[in-house]
Amino acid sequence: MVHFVGAGPGAQDLITLRGAELLKGAGVIIYAGSLVNPALLGLAREDCRIYNSAELTLEQVLDVMKAAQGEGLDTVRLHTGDPCLYGAIREQMDELDRLGIPWDDTPGVSSFCGAAAALGAEYTLPGVSQTVIITRMAGRTPVPGGEELEKLASHGASMAIFLSAGMQERVQAALLRGGAYTSRTPAAIVYKATWPEEKIVRCTVGTLAAAGDRAGIWKTALILVGGFLGQTYERSKLYDPAFTTEFRQGTDAPAQGG
Ligand code: SAH
Repeated sequence: MVHFVGAGPGAQDLITLRGAELLKGAGVIIYAGSLVNPALLGLAREDCRIYNSAELTLEQVLDVMKAAQGEGLDTVRLHTGDPCLYGAIREQMDELDRLGIPWDDTPGVSSFCGAAAALGAEYTLPGVSQTVIITRMAGRTPVPGGEELEKLASHGASMAIFLSAGMQERVQAALLRGGAYTSRTPAAIVYKATWPEEKIVRCTVGTLAAAGDRAGIWKTALILVGGFLGQTYERSKLYDPAFTTEFRQGTDAPAQGG
């Protein structure tokens, strides 16, 4: 069986309990070497065979999985963050189905959550934005038409931009062309969120590229953009004393009974 497992954003103790147990039991581990914290491999059995997927093609990954299945061994395919974002898991799952090899998927803490935690930020601030756009800038991997950064930037929503730290000037220009953010809209670049070498650069959309350049950040970083990184927001309704919910009577509720 193959277990897809989210390793979390970096810190060794941000993998789920389930993910850690699967790592401990695996006969084979294939980990995304460019981003997964190698310390997690310390959980592996002594006789576990370990492969770095950064050096492998899809075909080679599948060959390793097939061989393990033939030997009756469980494989853990360890992806950074949560496997459901930029994890290239679907192509593996479909091939495994074709080969009749069972698999399951254990989620992890995505880096966009790790980065928010590092910043002490909430993406969905009342009165600011109730939407998070997760995207990337088109580079060597294209982005489908209609999803250009400029178009997505026209909403003014909270944005977490993956895989684009090496293209900060283009990111900045596209964000500004979108029309909803201004050069003063708050932004941040978070490098290696939750790793010991984490770096946080707070800036604005207008200073994004220069700030990233000054900090020497060009990979393993998220670019976060939006008013959620600013100072202005509204209180939540849920915890407003006036607001009645299923569990709590608010001060504005009509008197009950009598
Ligand atoms: N599945 C992963 C994303 C993989 S794509 C997840 O859920 O996080 C790889 C990109 O994710 C990197 O280029 C970077 O933009 C982002 N990333 C991954 N780990 C990160 C971290 N600890 N800090 C900041 N960005 C990270």
